[in-house]
Amino acid sequence: MNRREYLTSTLGGFALLGSMSAVSASPNEAIRNRESGTAASYSLPRLAYSYDDLEPHIDAQTMELHHSIHHQAYVNGLNTALDKLAEARASNDFSLVKHWSREVGFHGAGHFLHNLFWETMSPDGGGEPGDADLKTAINKSFGSFRGFTRHFEAASGAVEASGWGVLAWEPDSDQLMILQAEKHQNLSPMVTVPLLAVDVWEHAYYLRYQNRRTDYVKAFLKVVDWDVVARNYATARSVL
Ligand code: MN
Repeated sequence: MNRREYLTSTLGGFALLGSMSAVSASPNEAIRNRESGTAASYSLPRLAYSYDDLEPHIDAQTMELHHSIHHQAYVNGLNTALDKLAEARASNDFSLVKHWSREVGFHGAGHFLHNLFWETMSPDGGGEPGDADLKTAINKSFGSFRGFTRHFEAASGAVEASGWGVLAWEPDSDQLMILQAEKHQNLSPMVTVPLLAVDVWEHAYYLRYQNRRTDYVKAFLKVVDWDVVARNYATARSVL
């Protein structure tokens, strides 16, 4: 998946969360969907780094379980749900449409958010954004980078049960927001574009950090690739 397809996938993911009607991993897949009437097949993304490359901040065992088992389950669940909905259309039997639509929402949101999560981490990450536009946006929206990190750590640490801490762009007023995604399948009111997401489900940190979720969020910020976040920001603004 190239950069463009990745971003389309992320933006498409939130279109999915917003409308529950459009599912597209890339423009080409969307076109194939329309022509064939069948669902696109999603796959587990290859990481740009090894499972042990984010040590000591994110441990290798967590990375392997998280990517190869947890994320793979979202991919499988999304493909199964889309197949079942294609079967429902073919047989004109929509008796289970509520169940499979919910499955698309749950597994689709999980898949797109994990893509964003992996993409915005790097062994060379951490520090502060170098990109001037992103820096300006963070200062304008949060007062300072320190204001952003304090707010992001607090919000992500306080997500009730499982979920995500999200840095998102709100296009209407052109500002950044920090959001909590308590149940990622229930984000239908969200009209913002996610730029950065930290996974705060226990599977993302428990082996190394146990109940110290905020320590994990601080560690996550030490591997954030701000160049990728800046590209997400620039691409979102150029598309919308
Ligand atoms: Mn996860």
